[in-house]
Amino acid sequence: MSKRSSKQHSQSGAKKSKHQRRTQKRLIQTLFKNTHDAIALIDDGLCIVDMNIAACDLLGLPRQQLKGQAISTFIAAEFARQPNSLNFPPGQSLSGELLVSSSTQIRREVEYTLTPNVIPHCHLLVLRDISQRRESIQAELRQQQQRVELFSEVTLKIRQSLQLKEILHTTVTEVQRILQADRVLIYHVLPDGTGKTISESVLPDYPTLMDLEFPQEVFPEEYQQLYAQGRVRAIADVHDPAAGLADCLIEFVDQFQIKAKLIVPIVQNLNAHSQNQLWGLLIAHQCSSDRHWVDFELELMQQLADQISIALSQAQLLEHLEEVVAARTAELQEEINVRMQAEAALRQSEEQLRLITNALPVLIAYVDEQQQYRFNNQAYRDWLGQSPTEIFGFHLRQVWGEDCYHRMKVYVETALSGQAVNYENDIVLKDGSGRAVDVTYIPHLDEQKTVKGFFALSSDISDRKAIERMKDEFISVISHELRTPLTSLHSALKILATGRLGTLSTEGQQMLGIADESTERLVRLVNNVLDLQRIESGKVILDCQACNAANLMIQAAEAMQAMAQQQEITLVKQPQDILVWADGDYILQALTNLLSNAIKFSSPGGTVWLNVELVTEENLPTSNTPKEVVFRVRDEGQGIPADQLEKIFERFQQVDSSDSRKKGGTGLGLTICRKIIEQHNGRIWAESTPGCGSTFAFTLPQALKHH
Ligand code: ADP
Repeated sequence: MSKRSSKQHSQSGAKKSKHQRRTQKRLIQTLFKNTHDAIALIDDGLCIVDMNIAACDLLGLPRQQLKGQAISTFIAAEFARQPNSLNFPPGQSLSGELLVSSSTQIRREVEYTLTPNVIPHCHLLVLRDISQRRESIQAELRQQQQRVELFSEVTLKIRQSLQLKEILHTTVTEVQRILQADRVLIYHVLPDGTGKTISESVLPDYPTLMDLEFPQEVFPEEYQQLYAQGRVRAIADVHDPAAGLADCLIEFVDQFQIKAKLIVPIVQNLNAHSQNQLWGLLIAHQCSSDRHWVDFELELMQQLADQISIALSQAQLLEHLEEVVAARTAELQEEINVRMQAEAALRQSEEQLRLITNALPVLIAYVDEQQQYRFNNQAYRDWLGQSPTEIFGFHLRQVWGEDCYHRMKVYVETALSGQAVNYENDIVLKDGSGRAVDVTYIPHLDEQKTVKGFFALSSDISDRKAIERMKDEFISVISHELRTPLTSLHSALKILATGRLGTLSTEGQQMLGIADESTERLVRLVNNVLDLQRIESGKVILDCQACNAANLMIQAAEAMQAMAQQQEITLVKQPQDILVWADGDYILQALTNLLSNAIKFSSPGGTVWLNVELVTEENLPTSNTPKEVVFRVRDEGQGIPADQLEKIFERFQQVDSSDSRKKGGTGLGLTICRKIIEQHNGRIWAESTPGCGSTFAFTLPQALKHH
């Protein structure tokens, strides 16, 4: 190259480089102005040559003071301490993070890029403050942590509530608090598509949607299906056409000042096989302004909706359980009421029973199967000086003493075997006086017919006994006194009738006949009365032995033969050789009495049968048990009406009161017969078909060989 040309070249080169430097400077100035990052130019000695405003702010000093300052004053990077470290090829740069300490000791985290020799011997240091970014990341982390804590806190609160209503209320209140939403509600969807708000938390400035029922149009079928599949709707601005709300819905949301809303479904999966069912929606409203819902909010709402769904299943289970418990409780209550009523009724009836029994002048008691008293009336205190409470639980022996108990024992055992008994006993009262009592025991059987005890009734019959004794004595005395004059009267009449003392006119003889007949009747009556009285007073002691029934029947028939002939009655006897255990004289008396009645009440030409029979009962256990022998006297007479069959055995009872006159009876014959037969432990009864005849039958025990 020529010198000139070289000079020219160097001139043009100098010019060019000057121009270049100016351009670079302008470029740097533009860069300084238009970037937010801090930029500094540093020289080879690592001192600040120039910087922009952002760098002044970062390093904390004005431009004039910064110029010439070593960069190591502010930053602790490796390159800042070693000037030579910047000797790397142009086009390469150094970058990383470092700490900047400003003049006011504020430390900042900074991202840096160092580009050497952007201008010869001048290096570009770009510092970007990343402290804020770091802080915001940390803040976000902290926030997330808080949200997790918040979520578990709310979930816990929900779980702790047992009642569904409470759970829903807790949910809306907590969501409203956390989201700072203006209104949070739970909308329950009914199967017919309608629905209503069942829980709400709303700021006082806004209208409530609680209990409002919404028609199906507000929430059409297709929406329901979408929600059932889990759709979530976050609308930042309900008026934004992009939100796609129908006009009617916009009208609806305006009515409640809703500007933004977030909707998550509450879905129930009733069982593994069924489809998800939409139970309701958890909805947050912003009324004060539009609102961009963030992911966290969506997530929170969704998770809480899931919690509600779980709570719903649990609540339904609980509800079912409660229903079962309530039903059972009601049943139990009913049972208790019935029992209480029954107890009250029982108490009342017991009280009444006590009042009644206490008012009666007889001993009334209930004795259990252990022979211990379980109930006594007041008479026990009056008679024995022992109150019912004292006697309660006492054994009969303790109350009555050994002697008296000995007399009653057999009857007590009979009652406890299930048979009612009646007997007479003598007892001693608290004052030492004796009393005759009539005692009746009535067994008490439970539903299984097991004897549980017996009721005992004892009445004082001392007075009756005394009167009976007096009556017996009176009758006996009178009868004896009557018998003597009657006998002489009878004899006198008989003598007169012979005519030995003079002949009587026909009329006189008739009168004498009547007098004789009446005297005979009077003698019979006195004899009958005396017989009866003797038997009843227990003065008769039977002389029982084995008697042949045939003999008795023959004797009786013979005794009555004359009477039968007189009345033109055929007497048919069918004797059999059966041994009976009896006092022959008394049985003869009974038989003649029955035969005399049969003849008396038969029409002339009639027949009277007398027979005997041994009752063969197959169920009699052994041949050692005495069998029954039945005697029967049958006639073809007028018969006896059914209602009289028992009555005629009572004293002076006659079917027709004229009978005594016509037939010469006394009305005592059958009474005496019954007494005689009962003394023999037999039974006597009458059977009859009026107009056709009557049968009188009685039983006697068969006489066994060892008798
Ligand atoms: P009487 O001394 O009157 O016969 P009874 O005690 O022997 O007394 O009889 C009572 C009543 O029973 C009789 O008056 C009669 O009315 C009735 N009677 C007894 N036996 C018979 C019979 N064989 N036929 C019809 N009536 C009878």
